[in-house]
Amino acid sequence: MEKEEFSLKLYLDPGHGGTDPGAQGNGLNEKDVTLNIALKIRDILTNSYESVDIKMSRTTDVSKSLSERTTEANSWGADYYLAIHINAASGSAQGYEDYIYSSLSDSSTTAKYQSTIHEEVIKLNQLKDRGRKKANFHVLRESTMPAFLSENGFIDNSHDAALMKQSSWRQDVAQGHANGIAIAFNLKRKTNNPPEPPEPSNPVTGTLYKVIAGSFQSRENADERVAFLEANGIDAFVKPTTIAGKNWYRVQAGANSNRENAEKRLAEVKAAGITDAFLVAENGVTTLESADRNSIMGPTQLSAGQMNSFVKGINPDAMELGSLYQTLGEYYGIRGDITFAQAMHETNYLRFTGVVQPEQNNFAGIGATGGATRGASFATPKDGVLAHLQHLYAYASTEPLPDQYPLVDPRFQLVERGSAPNWTDLNGKWAVSGETYGQSVLDLYERMVDSSN
Ligand SMILES: [Zn+2]
Repeated sequence: MEKEEFSLKLYLDPGHGGTDPGAQGNGLNEKDVTLNIALKIRDILTNSYESVDIKMSRTTDVSKSLSERTTEANSWGADYYLAIHINAASGSAQGYEDYIYSSLSDSSTTAKYQSTIHEEVIKLNQLKDRGRKKANFHVLRESTMPAFLSENGFIDNSHDAALMKQSSWRQDVAQGHANGIAIAFNLKRKTNNPPEPPEPSNPVTGTLYKVIAGSFQSRENADERVAFLEANGIDAFVKPTTIAGKNWYRVQAGANSNRENAEKRLAEVKAAGITDAFLVAENGVTTLESADRNSIMGPTQLSAGQMNSFVKGINPDAMELGSLYQTLGEYYGIRGDITFAQAMHETNYLRFTGVVQPEQNNFAGIGATGGATRGASFATPKDGVLAHLQHLYAYASTEPLPDQYPLVDPRFQLVERGSAPNWTDLNGKWAVSGETYGQSVLDLYERMVDSSN
């Protein structure tokens, strides 16, 4: 029967989750990448197309069996089953491939959908094309509607994994899937969403993208940065800003109403050696460039509410630490939001599944050196957050500790001052941290930002 309105009931299934991390490599878990891509697919389809009804197997990091997923899709009466996965092999294999059920013919409707989506994804994903394939996978076999499963790169391959770490790549992969679905099912675009973004500027929002090539608490350092940029042929100037009563000197190296042009300038600035440069939109929304948040010192960008609601989406019983990290982070000039992400990493989202117990108020694993060593204890959550920030301050700054609050970090004096200005500098330094520790914290932070968008 032909439908009058174009409509689609899409079951969207990010692979793995919860206790099942899926494939792992290069500091990444498959379950996190698949969830992030799937959420972006959902957002693109619901924002840009009419009459798309999407049910997701999961929207957070929870466990769900394969049969629960297919049973849910079947009983809901989905028109299409879209599963997102990441591959793994030996480390040398790389690229993209997708699957339909093995018994289907090349002329089947399911195979035609596969061709369409495959073609659209390959246009955008920068991955080697390993082709369209068939397999006897559970979700392809047990689903009663046409089903498709994509393997978006190899997590244990350094080329593919480097792409996976970029928010812009995950967005492109999501866009490719969304484009394929839209074509395959002839979805009708929402009229308030023009097919092409306006060029060269964005007159609807008037957004201006500024290239920030450093933020300093010392004017002298900011001036030095400007001189360095000008010596490299890049015009720049210092712009003082006040954040929670503290003066910051931002170095701005260009601005453009066209995002692409701003990104080109950003690339030039990075090529000149300022690898922590980043873009800021005039409305204050910061982009997710991976390097823009590597600095431990800097202004907090997420609100306390955004931090709290992120953790509660994963652990509904979590205590609310957002405002402590926000206000005390600002006092020390430390990224309170990324520090919060570090606490979520250390405490398994305040579930305290490691050796540190909740009553210790030790959100940073201070003094917990592995084995049965439970680490430091703090009288109140506020003291625990203070100790966390003070410990970071010891690593990130050579300045004396601001003295409005007493020193509660028992290990402050043991830190080589200024030895880790960036989150990734904490690799191998922070408690029992590993070689990708900082990246894990930043990845978690990126998920916080994504979930608050
Ligand atoms: Zn998988």
